[in-house]
Amino acid sequence: MLRTFVLLLAAIPLVGQPLAIDSSRLRAHIRFLSSDLLEGRAPGTRGGDLTEQYLSSAFEAAGTKVQLQKVPLLGVRTDPGSSVIISGTELVWNTDFVASSRSQKALSLIQADLLFVGYGNNYGNVDPKGKIVVMINGQGGTTAKRELATRLGAVGTLLLSKTSLPRSAAESIQLKRDPASSSLDFTGAITEAAALRLGWPVADLLAKATATDFTPVPIAGTLQMILQSTIRNFSAHNVVATIPGSDPATSSEHILYSAHWDHLGLAANGEDRIFNGAVDNATGCAALIEIARAWAALEPRPKRGAVFVATTGEESGLLGATYYAANPLQPLNQIRIGLNLDGLAPGPKPSGFFALGTENKNAQPLLEEAARRLGIPLRPDPKPELGYITRADHFPLMNAGVPAYSLMPLDESGQFASAYMNSRYHRVNDEYSPTWDMTSNEAMSRLALTIGLNAASRP
Ligand SMILES: [Zn+2]
Repeated sequence: MLRTFVLLLAAIPLVGQPLAIDSSRLRAHIRFLSSDLLEGRAPGTRGGDLTEQYLSSAFEAAGTKVQLQKVPLLGVRTDPGSSVIISGTELVWNTDFVASSRSQKALSLIQADLLFVGYGNNYGNVDPKGKIVVMINGQGGTTAKRELATRLGAVGTLLLSKTSLPRSAAESIQLKRDPASSSLDFTGAITEAAALRLGWPVADLLAKATATDFTPVPIAGTLQMILQSTIRNFSAHNVVATIPGSDPATSSEHILYSAHWDHLGLAANGEDRIFNGAVDNATGCAALIEIARAWAALEPRPKRGAVFVATTGEESGLLGATYYAANPLQPLNQIRIGLNLDGLAPGPKPSGFFALGTENKNAQPLLEEAARRLGIPLRPDPKPELGYITRADHFPLMNAGVPAYSLMPLDESGQFASAYMNSRYHRVNDEYSPTWDMTSNEAMSRLALTIGLNAASRP
């Protein structure tokens, strides 16, 4: 009898009140956050600072308590004086080869042997300690591969690149490293053309990488590098908004919502230089604010609280989320579920959604229940080979043992935002339009709210 009563009470916030997500409010946030005025929301820039201030104000207006968590960052720019020799042949910097310091020192002298490790996510029994690991793109995010190489004691990673090299002149942004922690000396890339000139068996290596029984193979030769860098200290903030729970017995337990606020800033050249990041990720920030508003308006309040983290530095490798996972404002073991929103492309009601994260016996029923309630079926990741699971802000929390997920909408074709991914993702035309159909954004916000409220009120 008592148990029935408790369950009824727990259900009140969901049954008794409409889950008010107002698409015109979502639009208003997205329009401002993706405006040219914010200059692409790069961390530590005027546009980034304005973004943090907007989010703080919006979260406060939504009825939450806001803290700015300072995230110490470094900008690392490789100087022209750097040089590299492989097996006695000097390569042309920025054409054949690029590298960026990870040791965060102004000068590194590096000499090591080379080991081809395929996609860089499975080393078998081969020990890469003290070696430079050469890998190809695909099957997972670069952050996770870099972390694995670091953990195994590699000196550096070298991407074997089919095409021209990634933005070499640009500054890379990194979390300021604890001097006691281990790190790679560098990450870099070499073109296939240069590798062929060095006599590497490129076709053979690429064929080996896709074999199911792949194990790393040494590449003959030694790499010698002088890596000179200009290091810039700066900081940005995770914007953290909190709504306390109503029950003193469980008030430290909470639901953690996240969405990254940062984007790519300004392109080096071009007529339109501004990476507006409307879908990526003004949409997620807008959802976060409106979920917070709906949550704060609930009477009675759910017994557990909610924490909303708008993270910085995601585009540079999940930096803000990684920092939060290492320095949480409330203990990680008090998070009942983590829900991350990133890249909510506009459109009609999603044909379904998938949840990137580790299956967890407590979290799974919450996802399934909300899917049923809202009529948005829970599906498997349509393209696990893209490695999205390692490429969004739930990942550092997931690695820290939190049942954390990124909720990803599926479009009419059953894919994640296929039209957007093909034509706008990480391009300057990721812009807001007043003609956007906000049905999907509203549905995904409601879905995240429903999952969180369920987790917050269950016994
Ligand atoms: Zn994103």
